[in-house]
Amino acid sequence: MSDQEEILAKPYDPETIEKTWYDFWHKKGYFRPEFRPDGTPYTITIPPPNVTGELHMGHALQHAIHDSVIRFKRMQGFRTLCLPGTDHAGIGTQMKVEQQIWETEKKTRHDIGRTELLKRIWAWKEKYGSTILQQLRDLGCSYDWSRERFTMDEGYARAVLETFVRFYEKGWIYRGKRMVNWCPQCGTVISDLEVEEKEIQSHLWHIRYPGVDGAPDVVVATTRPETMLGDTGVAVHPTDARWQDAIGKQVMLPLMNRAIPIVADEYADPEMGSGAVKVTPAHDPNDNEVGKRHNLAEILVIGLDGTMTEDAGAYAGQDRYVCRKGVVAALEELGLLVKIDDHNHAVPHHDRCGTVIEPLPMEQWFVSMRDLADLILPVLREKQIEYVPDRFREYSIDWLENIRDWCISRQLWWGHRIPVWTCEDCNEVIVSVDSPEVCTACGSQKLIQDPDVLDTWFSSALWPFATMGWPDETEDLKAHRPTDLMITGRDILYLWVIRMIMTAEEFLGEIPFKTVLVHPTVQTRDGKRMSKSLGTGIDPRELIARYGADATRLSLLYQCGSSQDIRFDAEVKDNKLEESPIAEMCRNFCNKIWNAARFVQMNMDERDIQDPALRTLPEGISDLADRWILSLYNRTVKQVTHSLETYRFDEAARGLYEFVWSAYCDWYVEMAKVRLNGDDAKAREQVQSILCVVFEGTLRLMHPIAPFISEALWQTFPHEGEALIIASWPESNEAWLDEAAEREMAQLQEVVGAVRNIRGTMRIPPGKRVDVVFKTVSEDATAILLAAQNYMKELGRIENMTIGADVERPSQSASAVVGDIEIFVPLAGVIDLDVERQRLEKEIVGLEKALGGLEKKLGNEAFKKNAPANVVEAERARQAEYQTTLAKLQGNLAVLAE
Ligand SMILES: [Zn+2]
Ligand SMILES: [Zn+2]
Repeated sequence: MSDQEEILAKPYDPETIEKTWYDFWHKKGYFRPEFRPDGTPYTITIPPPNVTGELHMGHALQHAIHDSVIRFKRMQGFRTLCLPGTDHAGIGTQMKVEQQIWETEKKTRHDIGRTELLKRIWAWKEKYGSTILQQLRDLGCSYDWSRERFTMDEGYARAVLETFVRFYEKGWIYRGKRMVNWCPQCGTVISDLEVEEKEIQSHLWHIRYPGVDGAPDVVVATTRPETMLGDTGVAVHPTDARWQDAIGKQVMLPLMNRAIPIVADEYADPEMGSGAVKVTPAHDPNDNEVGKRHNLAEILVIGLDGTMTEDAGAYAGQDRYVCRKGVVAALEELGLLVKIDDHNHAVPHHDRCGTVIEPLPMEQWFVSMRDLADLILPVLREKQIEYVPDRFREYSIDWLENIRDWCISRQLWWGHRIPVWTCEDCNEVIVSVDSPEVCTACGSQKLIQDPDVLDTWFSSALWPFATMGWPDETEDLKAHRPTDLMITGRDILYLWVIRMIMTAEEFLGEIPFKTVLVHPTVQTRDGKRMSKSLGTGIDPRELIARYGADATRLSLLYQCGSSQDIRFDAEVKDNKLEESPIAEMCRNFCNKIWNAARFVQMNMDERDIQDPALRTLPEGISDLADRWILSLYNRTVKQVTHSLETYRFDEAARGLYEFVWSAYCDWYVEMAKVRLNGDDAKAREQVQSILCVVFEGTLRLMHPIAPFISEALWQTFPHEGEALIIASWPESNEAWLDEAAEREMAQLQEVVGAVRNIRGTMRIPPGKRVDVVFKTVSEDATAILLAAQNYMKELGRIENMTIGADVERPSQSASAVVGDIEIFVPLAGVIDLDVERQRLEKEIVGLEKALGGLEKKLGNEAFKKNAPANVVEAERARQAEYQTTLAKLQGNLAVLAE
């Protein structure tokens, strides 16, 4: 027995084969493009997961897709490269390490200083930074680990600074005061993507601002009463008839005793409340715009740490929420609080720390986006990049048309420090990739570098080419640029994908990838967000441990269609996986294939696995079963290939599942037994060849989706070449498509189904062979049945078959009709008629009683009136079901009574 045969002698055990074959592939260098130097390049750079990350279901789906595509392309003969790496994830990583230092040493970053903190973060990164990439290996990802990149590795960091300098020189980077998202807890600007809108049960406070010099009082409503301290105006719609006379007059801001103007601005919605809105330019992005249009002052009343500033008057120094209570109480006392409504609304929170965001006007570094947007709008409009599905291309165009400038500075220490120095002596500003030693204007050495770092997305915007060595001209850039596919979730289409297109167009004058594939989001079984903090998270490693990596991939891809989000059916309690019927089903599928492989091999004892005859189809195939399986096989090759080409992983998985389970295992293997167990040696050899050829091709088809089991089995089957991972993709041979065979086989399956159904309902013991009489009308049907007698006998457990147009219906026989074929199974001598008769009678009595009760209930007016409609409906359905069963049982009894 060879090693391979020993593997197959055991039941399917994913854990063993996963480790064995992953190491094998990796050692052989199959993941590297160098392995196939002459192929056409096909390249993907993965969206770099955060270096702090741990594999969640979203990653698992994303990388099941990545790896399926790259394996498919590798088998198609491409020189494939899937380039992995991680993102330094500025704020996430810094927070994690800061937290650790606080927990162990009770020190803040300010206690230990910038240099020491960075040292600690690098040490953390060395230790834990590749956790998530290891988890991708566990999933089977065949990425080129020798090319792994990190957004802060030396070369990549240079590319980032180079970009800053080039943008600055173009006039695209500027320092200015704009509204930004500020986290008072973390003390930094954060990106829109890090803002999580949470629905909060709160109130709407209606406040009266008394009119000045005969102006009318104005009632405004706000969800944040503390911000009124910073109001510098009240706006009404220019066409609002109620306020025409008030425009240009003033109201008195309560608590601050500051007269503020009533301005006409279209931002005010006449349909809402009084039609008047307070304007707080320093604390609301929309108010900020209104303020700019009317020259209203920006008064900052909430400071960077979330407490009230000196400009908040009596409330200075209070926390913003303490101040809110004070303001409401004071207004009430003054009789200016008109009313308080309950009000639920979305409040922006920082997703990492849960703190409510303050929108603040701040002096920061920005990228002016208009020119960059205009640079790539034609690319999207002319479909130079394909989006799958296409609607995301249209959304991206909309977004670009209304683009806002991008705040790129962050008040963090971990990240790419902004390469801008200011001379303390002459105020010269120096922007440079390398640290300047002296001032270029006055020669002073007193140069101060900007303390901020760049937004993490500024660096990831260069990912598809900076990972290949840009700005240097490397071999990889020559060979693998532009890349072919970018696979991403929809949440980062704008903040990331669009910016990659911009930088590639600007620096390389070309698109960075040919296609953007937007994959579904994985949700809980009831459509909720999967999240660890909600207790609804599933750790994919648990799925892998329980069901295997192949079943995990299959279960995700089986549900991965063109747009619908995936509702993963697993039962989860407190982030613990209870069970997943779909993963279970996929695991059973793997088992089925494994067992089919064992069966085929057990029936090839005498054959030499190297025999080329087992790798080619025999001459002169005419048998129905053979023609049928070859037709379905070639159809499946065509369908799965098309599904993978069009990223319909669900269709590919389903096509494979149907073919392997229903066609190959359930029917062909069963039919093959007739010849495998027969006396005709040549027929046995022929069917062995077909079993092997079709199975080997099926393993190739399965490989992109279920790489481990397919490789493990392929190695034990007759094959050419060293490994399945680099075997050629099967081609569909149209000549084998055989509609006649498929039609005949379908009829045969129906007839066998009818015989099996009779066996079941009449309780014929499974091992007992029966005689069956077929009354046929057409010559076609007679011919099909005659030709398939051996198969029918095997599949239906039939002893003798009688076929003909003029046969009589035997007495005491159960019957069925399939098309124009009548089927009779004589029961005398097959089952004990008396026992069966008694059983049927007893069952009929029971059913009649149940049916009587049900009829009484449904006849009851009170029940019909009071019970919910769905309950009544369910009872009616039960009644119908009972009636059908009863009729069947009575029919069966009548047969026995003959
Ligand atoms: Zn925060
Ligand atoms: Zn100077």
